[in-house]
Amino acid sequence: MSLKDVVSDDRPIKASFEFFPPKTAEMEEQLWRAVKRLEPLAPAFVSVTYGAGGSTRDRTHATVKRIVEETSLRPAAHLTCVAATRSEIDDVVRGYWQAGVRHVVALRGDMPEAGASYAAHPQGYASTPELIEGIRAIAPFIVSVSCYPERHPDSPSLEHDIALLKRKVEAGASRAIGQFCFDSDAVARLRDAAAKAAISVPIIPGLMPSTNFKGVARMAARCGASIPAWLSQLYDGLDNDLESRRIVASAVLAEQVQELHAHGFDQFHFYTLNQADLTYATCRILGLVPKDLS
Ligand code: FAD
Repeated sequence: MSLKDVVSDDRPIKASFEFFPPKTAEMEEQLWRAVKRLEPLAPAFVSVTYGAGGSTRDRTHATVKRIVEETSLRPAAHLTCVAATRSEIDDVVRGYWQAGVRHVVALRGDMPEAGASYAAHPQGYASTPELIEGIRAIAPFIVSVSCYPERHPDSPSLEHDIALLKRKVEAGASRAIGQFCFDSDAVARLRDAAAKAAISVPIIPGLMPSTNFKGVARMAARCGASIPAWLSQLYDGLDNDLESRRIVASAVLAEQVQELHAHGFDQFHFYTLNQADLTYATCRILGLVPKDLS
């Protein structure tokens, strides 16, 4: 499928954008520049992450609240099971609802200490399906969850991941967002395996629009995503050449959305890292046209 085919295809495309809550005034400005630039693309939703161990609890809340109050966007607030009792997590959920948030991305999460094995809090939600049930018992939130085209590092097999995804859906999840993955065939295989297991919710591929290849490689090593040799080769020797990295990153994204679109995917989730340019350009490549918000 060529770019011409993607743009002229009449299957409607939907995008969603992930942001993280800013730590400083400067980062806050950067986030809002990105939000404002991407808002006219009318995403299905935007999501705001929750720091490991709940470290961004207040900042995540403040960010989704501001999105509700100051934009036309529908925010989803991430939430993890880690390092908190059920009642503390329930308070966060009620706070989201009171702030006008109607969508939660429910996750197990990781321990606050980098590399530590996961251990459920003794008075907490032990797993994502339990967390989803807790959220849905509080209010009729839309719940999204994660999925892993290349297997979660703690999971013994893809089959285990699929069985867990099924339990998340049975608990009330209505969408699964993929970990970023540069192998479009693996994303399609996960979708097909989910369909075979009678999981009917959409699987949304996660895309990593970053020019910081070294940073992406570090993230990939932590979350079990692979970096193919051809991709490393494309960035080889470009550490001090941002302009070329930008062009390479755009070409890689353009090819990946063409491949995924040819595999039948119509929805895409962008891990924006609070930067809009590559995400904006890729959405234009998918044929999205900005709306006039005035
Ligand atoms: P799940 O898919 O629920 O489980 C992953 C694996 O852990 C499975 O193999 C499961 O069997 C195993 N497992 C589950 N419960 C236990 C248990 N009690 N003991 C041992 N093993 C268990 N992280 C953040 O900190 N904040 C975020 O905002 C955030 N957003 C994310 C958004 C997306 C779309 C994705 C893909 C990931 C995100 N992450 C985030 C990362 C995520 O928290 C980690 O990948 C984490 O290791 C797993 O969480 P999960 O919900 O994907 O786990």
